[in-house]
Amino acid sequence: TVRVRFAPSPTGYLHVGGARTALFNYLFARKMGGKFILRIEDTDLERSERVYEEQLIAALRWLGLDWDEGPDIGGPYGPYRQSERVEIYQEYAQKLVNEGKAYEVYAYPEEIEALREKLLAEGKAPHYTREMLEAFTTEERKREYAEKGLRPAIYFSMPRKDYVIHDVVKGEVHFKAGSVGDFALLRSNGMPTYNYACVIDDGLMKITHVLRGDDHLSNTVKQIALYEALGWPVPVFGHVSMILGPDGSKLSKRHGATSVEEFRNRGYLPEALVNFLALLGWSHPEGKEILTKEELIQSFSLERLVKNPAIFNPEKLRWMNAEHIRMKPIDELVKIARQYINWDVEEERLKKIILAVRDRIEELSELPELTRFFFERPENLPEQIPEAVETYTALLGELEKLEAWTKETIYAAFKNAMKSARLKGKEFYMNLRLILTGKTEGPELIDILEALGKDETTARIRKYIE
Ligand code: GLU
Repeated sequence: TVRVRFAPSPTGYLHVGGARTALFNYLFARKMGGKFILRIEDTDLERSERVYEEQLIAALRWLGLDWDEGPDIGGPYGPYRQSERVEIYQEYAQKLVNEGKAYEVYAYPEEIEALREKLLAEGKAPHYTREMLEAFTTEERKREYAEKGLRPAIYFSMPRKDYVIHDVVKGEVHFKAGSVGDFALLRSNGMPTYNYACVIDDGLMKITHVLRGDDHLSNTVKQIALYEALGWPVPVFGHVSMILGPDGSKLSKRHGATSVEEFRNRGYLPEALVNFLALLGWSHPEGKEILTKEELIQSFSLERLVKNPAIFNPEKLRWMNAEHIRMKPIDELVKIARQYINWDVEEERLKKIILAVRDRIEELSELPELTRFFFERPENLPEQIPEAVETYTALLGELEKLEAWTKETIYAAFKNAMKSARLKGKEFYMNLRLILTGKTEGPELIDILEALGKDETTARIRKYIE
């Protein structure tokens, strides 16, 4: 069965690029009836923080990408946090050393760096060999390490042969023999490097497909070499292109919001973000654009992942959000809307207000502005001209008579008032809108009256007339 994973490093917010990687893995797992695993890659002790892990988990949950195994829920191949797997990494590193596929290195980081610079100065690629690195191993150095309580680093003896990656997105990617030198598996603090921990975990967690950003493509050579050294099956790889900003450069802060949290705060629905991210690097077989999560799962396939970089278009995301807001069942939308407004308003009234403005919302954070006039009376009323005062006095009479306050009864009152009134049609509506909202445009007038309620509507009209 298919087993895929999302393996974020908890060093910051969940970026849309990471969210898209998580999403593709999730969709593939759900489509194939497989398992989706969350693994936390927190071996960079300086940059990793538990709060970031919590934020990542909250963001993934909000997106609705639930996982089957992970640090918070456990599973048969745990632990799922790399910092809790250090012994496992050490055990396999020792095994590789015993088999002569890896070796101990007693060099300080400055010495490795100096070696690198020396190679570069000689016009050579900075590739380390076993010979170069073992030259640091002296009896004296070993004693020094023991005294300082240091452990040797463990380096992998990279086979100097050609490698080819059969990538489901990129096709065949070739790496010539010697394009990668020996590299560290464990550092002298005992912590594993990314490439090493990743292979041990993907192998032990029985990962069948690795879908991730193409910034990891060159790491894949090292990873394949490690699978071979361990005698483990190599998973299927798929590397999707980075997401670019509208100007064609790699998406970054400069382009505006890039973290899932920011989009959440600005009032994007998770359905909209999921829909949008799915189309950054994948396309629906019939070119459909508005898709629910269920539809995405049904139609997802690795074959339709695209090679070309995807452009992040914020305008398109706004449009999609507006579409998903309209698709959302109204009671759910009202609950979500509450998180974006501060007014104390009871459920039925809020529902009417949201129904009135729903077609105009693109980001839910616009709600306070869009709905303000329902809660605050307009300050500037239109000029009190005699024919308007006469007309709205008549309307007020009609509205006050109403027992039921519905679109139908309100509309009937409009018609009755207009029969004898001097302001008609467009003028009737435009001035009434100004009296009630202080604005020249907005939701349907009938919807506004319905949501304002009888008392407030008549009070606002009275204020104009008096
Ligand atoms: N922790 C790595 C990252 O966040 C995971 C890469 C991978 O999927 O192998 O980039």
